[in-house]
Amino acid sequence: MFDRDTEEACFLSPAEDFGKDRQPIQFRRDPLTGMGCRINVKRTQRVKQAQHRDFSQLAGMAREGCFFCPENVERMTPRFPEELIPGGRLRRGESWVFPNLFPFARYHGVATVTREHHLDIKDFTRTQLADAIHNGLDFFRRVHEFDGDARYAILSWNHLPASGASIIHPHIQLTMDGRATNFTALLLERSRQYHEEHGRNYWEVLVREEERIGERFISRKGDISWLASFAPLGNSEVMAVFHGRANLFQLRDGDVEDLAAGIRNVLSAYYAMGRNSFNLTVYSAPVDQAREDYSLNLRIISRPDPTGYYTSDIGFMEALHHERVVESMPEAVAASVRDYF
Ligand SMILES: [Zn+2]
Repeated sequence: MFDRDTEEACFLSPAEDFGKDRQPIQFRRDPLTGMGCRINVKRTQRVKQAQHRDFSQLAGMAREGCFFCPENVERMTPRFPEELIPGGRLRRGESWVFPNLFPFARYHGVATVTREHHLDIKDFTRTQLADAIHNGLDFFRRVHEFDGDARYAILSWNHLPASGASIIHPHIQLTMDGRATNFTALLLERSRQYHEEHGRNYWEVLVREEERIGERFISRKGDISWLASFAPLGNSEVMAVFHGRANLFQLRDGDVEDLAAGIRNVLSAYYAMGRNSFNLTVYSAPVDQAREDYSLNLRIISRPDPTGYYTSDIGFMEALHHERVVESMPEAVAASVRDYF
């Protein structure tokens, strides 16, 4: 199931007085999609010429006049049409849902997570996270009732500019329409094929196997299992698999609480690793399909530090070859994150 092999790159290094430096590169393939990645943990030692680590400005950056801050949110954010959401916005705890001003889906909302303009990622509370997720799910349910063709829902989070977020203020993205993304479509199709060939749900097999091996398994809380991905799409990647749930509409209140707690644990671990920027997304079956061959799943990856000038982790391999070069070893990620569960 877990296909990997290691090659070695060798060169004469000026740092070793031009002696031989041998660096192992591990090639791994995702057991479901077959997509390959390359892992070289030595790449964490790269000198990044465009990098400085002063984040002291982040808290105050763009605080003045921020659309998402409590004093402005009702005055400055757009509203959904009344027929979709009476009143135009949703509110739960500290979280507001309103339209994205520059959408890339037929229904594209934003859910703020906090009243505060900026928090360190270890400081999000479980209540803040759960309220934002609940608010997002409420939005998706209203959209689907309004437009039954909108069945592909994605709940995602880009945090801080290096992850693609244009606004510092913590916010979740909610997109929904009739099209699966490339990757969701691939996961759904391969899961269907796996079920046809083996008569079993791939995700259940994956979790059972990972739990047996133990190297990448992190924790199971309620109906959610957390593990470090065998062949990651990004650095320090952690995935969650929801047992017995194929789509976002099947989540129960307890699942949302467990999910919020799990995300909080992963973010605390990232903070301890010195990371503060991340992407998170869910891969959901269509919200009107309770599929046996698929399990709702989620991935979180860390992203570069959000300094004024920084070195991106998306180069030609990632952007143009669909192949990730990763600098974290999944087994080490699991060991670090496990302490926070
Ligand atoms: Zn703000």
